[in-house]
Amino acid sequence: MDYPGNLFVVSAPSGAGKSSLVKALMELDARVQPSVSHTTRAPRGQEKHGREYFFASEQEFDAMVEANGFVEWANVHGRRYGTSRKAIEERVAQGADVVLEIDYQGALQVKQVFKNAVLIFILPPSWDELRSRLERRGEDAADVIDLRLKNAAQEMGEACKFDFVIINEVFERALFDLKTIVHAQRLKYAAQRRARAETFESLNIP
Ligand code: GDP
Ligand code: ADP
Ligand code: 5GP
Repeated sequence: MDYPGNLFVVSAPSGAGKSSLVKALMELDARVQPSVSHTTRAPRGQEKHGREYFFASEQEFDAMVEANGFVEWANVHGRRYGTSRKAIEERVAQGADVVLEIDYQGALQVKQVFKNAVLIFILPPSWDELRSRLERRGEDAADVIDLRLKNAAQEMGEACKFDFVIINEVFERALFDLKTIVHAQRLKYAAQRRARAETFESLNIP
């Protein structure tokens, strides 16, 4: 499928800093827009329906699966999460760069549908740091943190299937790496040809 916008898919084990990095990227770059996922998990403290997620009941989620409403969906940490077609197709068609923060199973499914999607994996600098970030974040109960750490080992084993890897040790450095990936996509021939059509034409490049 050809479309003018870029699709960036960011995955990481829980606590590696994916949400913080994507949020900071969007604050710096208004052309990057989020895809809001659907989930069957309960909202955390400040989360708002339609902002972080569309919170759905099991029945609502089933209905969307049956109606083929998801580009991908997966079971993550015992809950279901999915990316609706609506969340991305209209926007990339209009030329926006859309960023998906989804787990590795979903990322690999998206790549099947959108061959040009750019898959980015975020790693923590160490196991100790991953655990302490989950504890410091203070959003999850101890048993949830244990489950997320247990799943992290398998998730990180999938990093080799991604196009890019960022190690989130010093936050500013990792953010710079993420910006660099976004920037490089915009310099690809097809993107430049579209964005700078006048320059190409004045140079007589067809
Ligand atoms: P962009 O890709 O369009 O955002 O622009 P540039 O590639 O020119 O760089 C963006 C900014 O990041 C510039 O102000 C650079 O000086 C700065 N920068 C370069 N290297 C690093 C780094 O390792 N860490 C941080 N935090 N900033 C950097
Ligand atoms: P994820 O979305 O991958 O689960 P978060 O973005 O929620 O992760 O980050 C987990 C916690 O770690 C948050 O409290 C965040 O502020 C913190 N954090 C993120 N990146 C760094 C970093 N480079 N150094 C220290 N703490 C970080
Ligand atoms: P959290 O509950 O911490 O917000 O997210 C838990 C996990 O679900 C993260 O790994 C996150 O990337 C993943 N996730 C969030 N939305 C989606 C989605 O739409 N699809 C898939 N496959 N995973 C998602």
